[in-house]
Amino acid sequence: MAAIQERINNACKESNRNPDEVKLLLATKTVPAERIKIALQAGHTLIAENKVQELKEKYETLKGVPHTNHFIGHLQTNKIKEVLKYDVSCVQSLDRLDLAEKLHQRLQFENKTIEVLIQVNTSFEESKFGVSPDNAIELVEQVAQLETLKIKGLMTIGLFSAETQKVRKCFRLLNDIQQQIISLNIPNVDMQELSMGMSGDLETAIAEGATIVRVGTAIFGERIYPDSYYWNEQKA
Ligand SMILES: *Cc1c(COP(=O)(O)O)cnc(C)c1O
Repeated sequence: MAAIQERINNACKESNRNPDEVKLLLATKTVPAERIKIALQAGHTLIAENKVQELKEKYETLKGVPHTNHFIGHLQTNKIKEVLKYDVSCVQSLDRLDLAEKLHQRLQFENKTIEVLIQVNTSFEESKFGVSPDNAIELVEQVAQLETLKIKGLMTIGLFSAETQKVRKCFRLLNDIQQQIISLNIPNVDMQELSMGMSGDLETAIAEGATIVRVGTAIFGERIYPDSYYWNEQKA
């Protein structure tokens, strides 16, 4: 974790940014709760799961240790009720209106609000979730009408490629969309967060304005499941 913080600090230096502007989020899918606990106790308290099932399994073990939970996986509408049981403060993967509407209905019923990021598919890959860049602004305008959902920014998964320029294009596109949304001054929309960059591409993301980098492998080691297990699910 110290090594990752060092990478973040160096990347900030390169682009004349203050490291305090970039939060390190630990992507904890497949990581046992006992290991996550060690990370939390070491002071890295922003974590996120991709599946409601894993959130549930680890909940009891992590309950007593102060931390903040985000959700970064594909959320099916039949899991809404469940995800709200486990103190998730932000759903970073809001990518469609029907999910937003159902989440809003449930939150109204529970008399709660939640933070959300709009997930945009900046790599144009079929396999990745996220609203298409062309429809992102419209989705933001629609979600802004649902008062239980507090829009805090945008999230994306960059292209998996060794060609930095192609990866950079994804992050730059997210930044462009953010700027367009800011200029529209939509009520109930805060655009402060850009969640982008992972183990392999966090430097590029920071150069393009990331405020949250989501790191798993570079901290916890390789996962046994391929990422397609998390990202290529049947769309609900
Ligand atoms: C797993 C995951 C990450 C972290 O990826 P690493 O390459 O392991 O750092 C980031 N974002 C999302 C949405 C993920 O599912």
